[in-house]
Amino acid sequence: MDDHAKERTAPKVAIVVPCYNEEEALPVTAKELLSLLDKMEADGLADSSSYVMCVNDGSRDKTWATICSLHDADRRIKGIDLAHNRGHQNALLAGLMTVMDNCDAAISIDADLQDDPQAMVRMVEDYRNGIDIVYGVRSSRATDTWFKRTSAHGFYSFQKAMGLDTVYDHADYRLMSNEALHLLSEYGESNLFLRGIIPQIGLKTSIVKYERHERVAGESKYPLKKMLSFSIDGITSFSAKPMRLIFLTGLTFLIIDIIVAIYVLISFFAHSAILGWSSLMLSVWFLGSLILMGIGIVGEYIGKIFIEVKNRPRYAIREKLL
Ligand code: UDP
Ligand code: MG
Repeated sequence: MDDHAKERTAPKVAIVVPCYNEEEALPVTAKELLSLLDKMEADGLADSSSYVMCVNDGSRDKTWATICSLHDADRRIKGIDLAHNRGHQNALLAGLMTVMDNCDAAISIDADLQDDPQAMVRMVEDYRNGIDIVYGVRSSRATDTWFKRTSAHGFYSFQKAMGLDTVYDHADYRLMSNEALHLLSEYGESNLFLRGIIPQIGLKTSIVKYERHERVAGESKYPLKKMLSFSIDGITSFSAKPMRLIFLTGLTFLIIDIIVAIYVLISFFAHSAILGWSSLMLSVWFLGSLILMGIGIVGEYIGKIFIEVKNRPRYAIREKLL
């Protein structure tokens, strides 16, 4: 029985755009997204009620006024205005939760159109073929600076080493079905790292590759400092591996301690050691490794508490035959 193979009808698509100080980019972006919706509608790919949801993330420029006038010109441009700046991830979540009960599929994309909007066509096609989460993945980073490219790849590898599983070269450009959105809404954590949570949702996923462009206007709101703290947030929100590393360091020291002890004892019996050195060396190494292991063990428990307080859903049922 494989009824998932049957094609879904043309979905009502909601394009969710987080905007922080994007007054320059928004008019260009809105125009492009609307013409894309027109095209998908004309091709019978998406429903005519599809729309764009702009989330103003407490911008300090005229972003909200821009969204309002775009809305006046075309009702398919909708918006929500956050009371203050909460960061890209929270702005995105606010948008997704707002459209959750008013769309069949939501596509999140940055306001600067660095991620090729044309890839949405393939995302919607995948959706219609039964996929619930479609990840947009960059096929090249040629337009990023050398520094941005290298640091981003460094972060991916570091995160992987620290036990955080994310989709390589995927930012937050993705399609989620209504079902996936509802499952996402059950994650109540406030340290939000969507790229880590979404692979945990399950359901059917696929990847769509696209070229990454330059920003249409304005400047990047993600300088290195923000990227670094974003990466650390990601790791500490998902993995207790750094704590396990403390324990392992303690254990390694304990093993080295045996070698040190042999050396110290030989020196002691050969009378080549200064008085007091041997006992000092033995206790420093032994106690040092015990302390590290102790911290590591405490860390394991804190890690468990940390997972418990997040109160994440423990399972998700996809279908029921009752
Ligand atoms: N953004 C946001 N809140 C913030 C910072 C950024 O909503 O506090 C939005 C921003 O408007 C853009 C997206 O997040 O739509 C990605 O930001 P940006 O393009 O500056 O990041 P980059 O592509 O340089 O990594
Ligand atoms: Mg950008």
